[in-house]
Amino acid sequence: MEHYDVVIIGAGLAGLHCARLLGKRGLGVLLVDRKEALDLSIHTTGIFVRRTLEDFEIPDDCLGPAVRHVTLYSPSRRRLELVSPHDEFRVGKMGPLYTRYLDHCQRAGVAWLPGTRYVEQSHKKDKIEVRLETNAGGNTSRWVTTRYLVGADGANSRVARDLELELNREWIVGVEDVFTGVSLDGPPRLHCFLDPSIAPGYLAWVAHDGEETHIGVGGYAAMFEPVRALERFEAGLQGMVDLRTAKHGERRGGRIPVGGVLRNIANQQGLLIGDAAGAVSPLTAGGLDPCMRLSTLAATVIAEYLETGNAEALAAYSGNLFRARFASRLWMRRLISSVRHPALLEITCAILRLPFFKSFARHVFFGRGSFPDVDVQFAPHPKCETTGVVP
Ligand SMILES: Cc1cc2nc3c(=O)[nH]c(=O)nc-3n(C[C@H](O)[C@H](O)[C@H](O)COP(=O)(O)OP(=O)(O)OC[C@H]3O[C@@H](n4cnc5c(N)ncnc54)[C@H](O)[C@@H]3O)c2cc1C
Repeated sequence: MEHYDVVIIGAGLAGLHCARLLGKRGLGVLLVDRKEALDLSIHTTGIFVRRTLEDFEIPDDCLGPAVRHVTLYSPSRRRLELVSPHDEFRVGKMGPLYTRYLDHCQRAGVAWLPGTRYVEQSHKKDKIEVRLETNAGGNTSRWVTTRYLVGADGANSRVARDLELELNREWIVGVEDVFTGVSLDGPPRLHCFLDPSIAPGYLAWVAHDGEETHIGVGGYAAMFEPVRALERFEAGLQGMVDLRTAKHGERRGGRIPVGGVLRNIANQQGLLIGDAAGAVSPLTAGGLDPCMRLSTLAATVIAEYLETGNAEALAAYSGNLFRARFASRLWMRRLISSVRHPALLEITCAILRLPFFKSFARHVFFGRGSFPDVDVQFAPHPKCETTGVVP
């Protein structure tokens, strides 16, 4: 049976970043994803915030033009214009970005198994046996062994369940269409629509950076039918966005965990990163920055644990350490999900146009909160770059 120090299930942003850091540290890593290729079935809009762009070296050619303008629309389409003096957002070209990161992983010695599904694990004395199923040519099972298992398998994590770690319980659902060739007046802009009839508990968006246009809706699954809501939203945009000559690229979508980072995300058999760990801002539903930061910490902790055998290293990887930072966002999420009446949202938007509250809106869109940086105290390993945030 093949043996690895670490097996990582899921090659989204979290799994790719963690795999690369562990590979660079000299550990034997296997990265597994059920997708045949990483540019297939992308589910994210891919908006990176300024803090991520500053702290991590995301390849420039995998990012669209910078966005400084945000327009927030009330249910009756009254506007609140927000402009930042900084480049606040860039929309990632996620297919090329995942592919580039995979290339970095392979250069760092990471073994790659595409088209392969994680099925189950069983814990033996000092190793974990992992059953994988390969899609090609009928489902073929294979077993590998590992010292440590990482669940980077997204919001509905099977690895979390099997390792008896915590599971996400609160979600919103998002769906969007990606277009090219859309002409829209003005500079690159993020248009956000607060309207409970199309996006109950979250918002609808048009993210237009001059190259790509992402049109989407998000909300609580029990309160709307996402695809129908998207179609209604797109139809209602006529006059603002002309889609007649646009080229429809793909439809994306999926679940977004919004209950805050989970508490119990690590044990001696494995740990969770990214959406599997609930590492998403409950307020903005942004998960890319948390993916990068939590995966950086995970790589440090895993390497320390495997190199020293000291299980206390895992104590640095507890959701309890981060949850306090999410308290106000969780509180605001509860508030937003309870404001379902358009008239109430209309009043909220009118309040946000007042100067004091406008600065609050600016803080939500342009603030630099997101996921906390965690300063772990382990002595740096000579081969390791994982203690700094820049990979
Ligand atoms: C519509 C939508 C728009 C979004 N827009 C933004 C945004 O603009 N900005 C932002 O910051 N965040 C956004 N988010 C959230 C963000 O996309 C996620 O938080 C982030 O992509 C999570 O990355 P991940 O690596 O944890 O998980 P994923 O990207 O979900 O990766 C999980 C991987 O695991 C694989 N996998 C799952 N199960 C198995 C299995 N059993 N065996 C093998 N492989 C498996 C999957 O194929 C997948 O490749 C959005 C989310 C949605 C749904």
